[in-house]
Amino acid sequence: MKWRGRKGSDNIVDQRSFGGRGTAMGGGTLIIGAIIYFLLGGNPIDFVAQNTDVASQRSPASVSNAEDGRKEFASVVLADTEDVWIEQFRAAGLTYDPPKLVLFQNAVRSACGSANSAVGPFYCPADRRVYLDLSFFDQLSRDLGAQGDFAGAYVIAHEIGHHIQKLLELDRSRRDNRSSVQLELQADCLAGVWAHQTEASKDVIEAGDIDEALGAAAAVGDDRLQERSQGYVVPDSFTHGTSEQRASSFRKGYSGGRLGSCVQM
Ligand SMILES: [Zn+2]
Repeated sequence: MKWRGRKGSDNIVDQRSFGGRGTAMGGGTLIIGAIIYFLLGGNPIDFVAQNTDVASQRSPASVSNAEDGRKEFASVVLADTEDVWIEQFRAAGLTYDPPKLVLFQNAVRSACGSANSAVGPFYCPADRRVYLDLSFFDQLSRDLGAQGDFAGAYVIAHEIGHHIQKLLELDRSRRDNRSSVQLELQADCLAGVWAHQTEASKDVIEAGDIDEALGAAAAVGDDRLQERSQGYVVPDSFTHGTSEQRASSFRKGYSGGRLGSCVQM
């Protein structure tokens, strides 16, 4: 996928240097805070002691250059999803309200509770935000065998699919594993629509990209994930769908290319 130097989204919230522990303070803020604390009758040393551990543990320097490239990538993909869904919603007589994409490292607090990176990228319907630790892209290629940048793009587009479900109130039925699978497959389908429309409107999709997305969809199928983690497969506990189902749902959205290809309008 061609993404370098392209337009990014304004809806990225970068919390990577904070590790989900709240707001880290810089030196200047710390001194001013200590002065205010002093004026209010407190011992400024206490204030500094309370706040430096957060400030010093995670400096912005801990965010590497490689991660900055990935941030740009995520921002461009997010902008592409906004272009596609604004248009698709308009065509259906609706208004698309784009979600924020929160980048975090290690752990994060959301309106759906605290989470660490091990849970993978997720969408929180309560605050309508997508949460992503960029190191998941490494895991995708290294541990799950899903190569290529478009694999990462698919993951973002899938989470945006959950946001669309929230906007259209399709997510009410997440009661049991079976309906949960249907929602996950629909999110894959919506990711396919995004790929179709992006390819149709911009000269950015390269040979092999769609295969990368299909590879990623298959790599994160429950059967494949369960085989890797426990060595056997328990279909009743599937919540996302099998590799085969996930890849074919993406393909369905990709060939149909419209919101209505995945959602009964
Ligand atoms: Zn999902």
